[in-house]
Amino acid sequence: MTRTRIFTDTMAELGLNARIQSLIGGVLMDGQGEDIPLIDPYTEEELTRYADAGAALAARACDAAARAQRVWMGDFTAAGRGQVMQEAARAITAHAESLARLDALIAGKPIRDCRVEIAKVAEMFAYYAGWADKLHGEVIPVPSGHLTYTIREPLGVVFQITPWNAPAFTGGWQIAPAIAAGNGVVIKPSELTPATTVALVKLAEGAGLPPGLVNVLAGLGTTAGQAAIAHPATQKVVFVGSPGTGRRVAVAAAEALMPCVLELGGKSANIVFEDADLKAACLGAQAAIFSGAGQSCVAGSRLLVQEGIRSDLTEMLATGMNAIRLGDPLDEDTEIGPVGNAAQLAHIHRVLDGAQHDGADLMTRDSVPDRGYFVAPTVLAGLGNRSLPAMTEIFGPVVTTIPFADEEEAVSLANDTVFGLAGAVWTQDVGRAHRMAASVRAGTFWVNSYKAIHVSVPFGGSGQSGYGRSSGLDALMEYTAPKAVWLDAAPVPRIAFGYTS
Ligand code: NAD
Repeated sequence: MTRTRIFTDTMAELGLNARIQSLIGGVLMDGQGEDIPLIDPYTEEELTRYADAGAALAARACDAAARAQRVWMGDFTAAGRGQVMQEAARAITAHAESLARLDALIAGKPIRDCRVEIAKVAEMFAYYAGWADKLHGEVIPVPSGHLTYTIREPLGVVFQITPWNAPAFTGGWQIAPAIAAGNGVVIKPSELTPATTVALVKLAEGAGLPPGLVNVLAGLGTTAGQAAIAHPATQKVVFVGSPGTGRRVAVAAAEALMPCVLELGGKSANIVFEDADLKAACLGAQAAIFSGAGQSCVAGSRLLVQEGIRSDLTEMLATGMNAIRLGDPLDEDTEIGPVGNAAQLAHIHRVLDGAQHDGADLMTRDSVPDRGYFVAPTVLAGLGNRSLPAMTEIFGPVVTTIPFADEEEAVSLANDTVFGLAGAVWTQDVGRAHRMAASVRAGTFWVNSYKAIHVSVPFGGSGQSGYGRSSGLDALMEYTAPKAVWLDAAPVPRIAFGYTS
């Protein structure tokens, strides 16, 4: 079967036609803007093309979200909202295979990884469904005698922007807490990977979500995205993407005096000490940088290795690298697919060319498939922590190894970056593990592990990795605001209870 046919059939399984459309107020709508092609990263052929949603659809989406949010909060009980979200989780699970295939085809991510991500999306809806009727404020004992309590209120309409590297995952990640907290949503997935976000929302509407509570803009950030930020209904922007775009989004939000959450990139340090279980550390280092072809915000792209194990670990990495199965993302056996698009491929090659020019010692896999946007897993050595490949987010299967002598140097190298997203240490010394966890600047830190995440655990960064938190209770706080209510109660007489003589 041709790839175009697989794409068309999969879209049909999800109740969508092959022309990508925006989903606004429960209705699929064609955009009016410029044509956007969707390219299969494995065949480099066009799967479909569609018209940018543009500013006009963005305005309709924000209006629809504002209307539906009033229905969501007015006509549903808190428990009822949770029940609808549980139904949505079940609908996502029932269509998991189609959703996973769609992301594999369009994003070039191995189908086995996509299945895991879709299962996590269903889990996100189920997890936040449980919170829908457990969000409440507190009573605060003020000295004036007022009865003073807080209510956690939804913000109204929130606008979410997501990237191409984990389309369904980042969509579910932001939609689920936002609606559990009672908000209306407009979401703009990457123009390169819009299909699964539309499909997810359509499934949720089939499960009982009010039409228009979540609206999907298929299109560009510069048009639809900026228009949705500027729309008066929008109360907050949650952005997942690169630091450069994050800055533009934050500036636009600031113009409207609107808060943001920014989930941006990273250059995370994966630190291996001589006392580590080397086999586990090597497998962990490979998973940290090569899985997803390195296109992960938390990728362990700087491998800090204690001097005594440098050559052993490098040799083990080289052997492991050649055993990884690269290939068709739709193939069950594929462990690494192509990178997501031609621009990303060109960016990675530019960094690698520069590294070679600067005299890097480059260890790379023997071969890659001869078509598709493939990058061979690569280990760079001989460059310092201040070299370009060690400082910038490559977003590909390329790791820079950096030697260190002791804990103090490891911490200093790990923190010598503008990012602050994630990090890890491999050691059998518990005390050292805690010291490293306390000293490395990162929103997430793993010990003898890498990339473990769960919807219940807060996630986010500092510095150029952004601000604010997603996942867990923290995400619900981001999507709500406390209102303080002061009730002028009658002065409370100071009665002493109990025995008086
Ligand atoms: P990107 O910044 O190019 O695009 C992200 C989104 O922003 C897309 O939807 C895009 O259409 C939109 N956009 C572009 N210009 C815009 C504008 N002017 N106004 C409004 N929106 C605009 O990022 P990408 O290349 O799609 O994704 C890769 C990046 O995402 C990496 O830096 C990666 O680290 C980061 N990321 C971060 C996390 C996290 O949780 N921290 C998760 C996944 C990806």
